[in-house]
Parts: sequence; structure tokens; C-alpha cells
Amino acid sequence: MWESMPEGGAYWDKELLRMQKLKGQRALVTGASSGIGKAIAIEMARAGADVVVNYLYGDDVANAVADEIRGHGVRAIAHRADVSREADVVPMFERMEAELGGIDILVNNAGLQKDADFHDMTMEQWNTVIGVNLTGQFLCSREAIRAFRRQGLRPEISKALGKIVCISSVHEVIPWAGHVNYAASKGGVMLMMKSIAQEYASMRIRCNSICPGAIRTPINQGAWETEESYNALMKLVPYKRIGEPDDISKAAVWLASDDSDYVTGASIFVDGGMLLYPGFENGG
Ligand code: NAD
Repeated sequence: MWESMPEGGAYWDKELLRMQKLKGQRALVTGASSGIGKAIAIEMARAGADVVVNYLYGDDVANAVADEIRGHGVRAIAHRADVSREADVVPMFERMEAELGGIDILVNNAGLQKDADFHDMTMEQWNTVIGVNLTGQFLCSREAIRAFRRQGLRPEISKALGKIVCISSVHEVIPWAGHVNYAASKGGVMLMMKSIAQEYASMRIRCNSICPGAIRTPINQGAWETEESYNALMKLVPYKRIGEPDDISKAAVWLASDDSDYVTGASIFVDGGMLLYPGFENGG
């Protein structure tokens, strides 16, 4: 059964353009040249934010995303950096400060999988996934918090000193055989996010996660590209449709805006009910 996201966007489009909830804010989205990160970068721009489009591969694609963002009347920079390398991350934040004057919103989105049976998993597979998915989020969060503290509060722009949105996964709680490195990285993101939130709440820095279920992007193409694989996937999704990148980008804009000002340390599951033990939906 193939279904697409219902076209319910007209009301949201008008509201977003009218409200410009992120006007005057500067957002960095990592891994923003594809999938969920691209959708978030564009949605942030539509809400009025200037955006740094971080990417690792493909100058053309990243520049095209930055062009699309500029079409919304805000500033955009495409910046190549490997988020797992401190020597790449620090200069990315320095450039953002020099060209956009600072940062208000960090979206830790860059992530990857290197799947293997656990008994065959190599150090390279383990270290790469932990390096990008967890250490990358640590490095970017640390640089963002340093910047938030230097900059000070701008109450006319936001009630918070800064906002961090971590893209985690349902696999921060659901164990995942054959993907132990990935599940471990996302479990790590959960307690990193909550500990950052606890450490900096009194400074009005908010830190939250979005935990996607199955979203239609390149990372999991094998799970949705054929009718057979899609139908198998739907056994895990009570809402009986795959998620689209825009399901995540709307939640990210909300978490970055003052509409969620009293929310910090939360994992928000955007998963069509994947966490509801679908194996029990007919009584188990
Ligand atoms: P994607 O592969 O389209 O996006 C990941 C992006 O991260 C890519 O653009 C990739 O180039 C970039 N990236 C990888 N390593 C990097 C590095 N070292 N430095 C900078 N960028 C790097 O897949 P996606 O589904 O859009 O994934 C985005 C995030 O969402 C990931 O953190 C992923 O774990 C998470 N997620 C996705 C799903 C899903 O179903 N698609 C579900 C749960 C969580």
C-alpha cells in the first residue's frame, strides 16, 4: 500500500510566512544537503531564520539548498565540514560568527549507519558511527553553548539564550539488532541531550531531541523503495504511513521557537506510533 503525506500544508504555509517565528535568528543545521536536514534548513528559512547549511559531500547539492534558502529572503551559507572532526567544527562556528554575527539555533542532524552483525563489527564501523552521530553532536553542541554564553540574551529575538535540537531516533530506546553501533550512538545522544539541558537550563539554554521513526530519506531507502519492503515496514508503524522529512522539520521549527519556551530536556517522538508496541495492536 503506497501512500503519500496528505496535503495539509496550506494553512501551515500561511501561518509560517505570517508569523516568521524565527525572524532575526541564525540557525546551523548539520548534514543539511539531504533528507531530514535539508527539510529542516528550508523550514527554518521559511520561518525567517538565516541558515548555515553544513554538508560533507557534494558542493553542488549544498549550494542548491543554500540558493533555495536565499529565495526565502534570508541569508544562507553552505559550509563543508566533517562534524566528527574538531578541526572542522571550530572553524565552521568561527565563520558563522564572522559572517552572520553568531548563532541562536543549532540542529544536530548529521548522522549515518554502518550496519553489521555485532560479532563481525569492525572498529572502523563502530568508531565512524559513534564519531559522527555522538561525538559530532558533542562538538557542535559545545561550540554552540560557548557562543550562546558569549553573545548574551537578545530578548527582542528570543526568550532563550540559545536552542539546541538533537536529531536522535526511536532507537534511543528501541534496541536494534544488526545496528548496535547506531543504537548505542542514539542512546548516547539521549543522555548527552538531557545532561546538557540540566546543566544549562538556569542560563535559559534549551536542549531537546526529536526522535524520528521511519522517515523517507536516503539513509533507509531499502526499507521503503519497493512495495514489499514498504508493506513490511508498515507492520512497525501503527499510523500506517511512512514519515516525510517535513514531519520532522515542523517539529524542529517548533522546538527552535519561543512556542516551546518551557520545553527542555525532552525527547519528542515523531514516529507514527512506532513506540506503541505495534506487535500488540491486535491483543498480542
Ligand atoms: P541522510 O543520509 O539523507 O542525511 C544524513 C546527512 O548527514 C547526509 O547529508 C550526510 O552527508 C551527512 N553526514 C554524514 N556524515 C557527516 C559528517 N561526518 N559531517 C557532516 N555531515 C555528515 O539521512 P536522514 O534520514 O536525513 O538522516 C538525518 C538524521 O536523522 C540522522 O541523524 C539519522 O540518524 C536521523 N534519523 C533518520 C531516520 C529515518 O528514518 N530517515 C530515523 C531516525 C533518525
